[in-house]
Amino acid sequence: MTSESGPQRIYFSASAFSLPNAAAVPLPDSNSSSNCSSPSYSPQSDVAQCGATAPGDILIPAIPPRDCPLQPVPGPNGEDTLPTVSSNPVDVEHALVHAVLQHSVEPEGSCAACEDDELVCEFTETGISCGPCAVRSNENCSFAQPRFLLENAADWRNDYLHDQVHRLMREVQLRRLRPEQFAFEYRRSLNHSYAILQGAFRRFQILRRASRCLTQRGYRCLIASSTDVPQLGRFIEFGGETGLDKAVLKRAGERVAEIASGSL
Ligand SMILES: [Zn+2]
Ligand SMILES: [Zn+2]
Repeated sequence: MTSESGPQRIYFSASAFSLPNAAAVPLPDSNSSSNCSSPSYSPQSDVAQCGATAPGDILIPAIPPRDCPLQPVPGPNGEDTLPTVSSNPVDVEHALVHAVLQHSVEPEGSCAACEDDELVCEFTETGISCGPCAVRSNENCSFAQPRFLLENAADWRNDYLHDQVHRLMREVQLRRLRPEQFAFEYRRSLNHSYAILQGAFRRFQILRRASRCLTQRGYRCLIASSTDVPQLGRFIEFGGETGLDKAVLKRAGERVAEIASGSL
């Protein structure tokens, strides 16, 4: 896509989004008294009527932005953490926060663990483990990892910015926005995209905290409640076959030993 090609000036043109090799098109000045009163999406006709680049030209920004902040930040133990991209996040219940967390480059794709084990997997929302990882007590489902969020958030942001550029170009065409205001309005849209993403980061953290170790805690309670050695044996056998987290299996084994030794 032309708009991803780097720092060169790209002039107002719908073709910047669809025809990478099309001619660059200057936008007629909004106060122009020329015949270009309704700029069209046809580069050739605009160029023919309006001539070469003019003061009203609009610089289409690079998408993704060259200074993209959506990169993981190493945490205290070297783990991936999320960057801070806005000091003014939108509410965690904002409709676009939901849109960000439900956006996936591969909506039908499996998480890494299910792909390895050839299990049927389902993506619901970034920050929530897939079903198989949840029941197997795998706390490292890739759907709940910062890196997964950042990759999909960047893709969502790029779509959002493309939509905003189209919207602003339309406003200029309709003469509701002066070309010289384009950059300012685009910057506002860019900042708003990061406010939405920061809200999504907060929601992601809430989801992760709420669901972290939930099934592992549940298994521990179930195991602690049981005094039935054959039942625990069947649980260990079934858990082993289905890839249940080893810490849970270990706890079940310890419980069997406790019961056998009479130290209930
Ligand atoms: Zn999965
Ligand atoms: Zn998973």
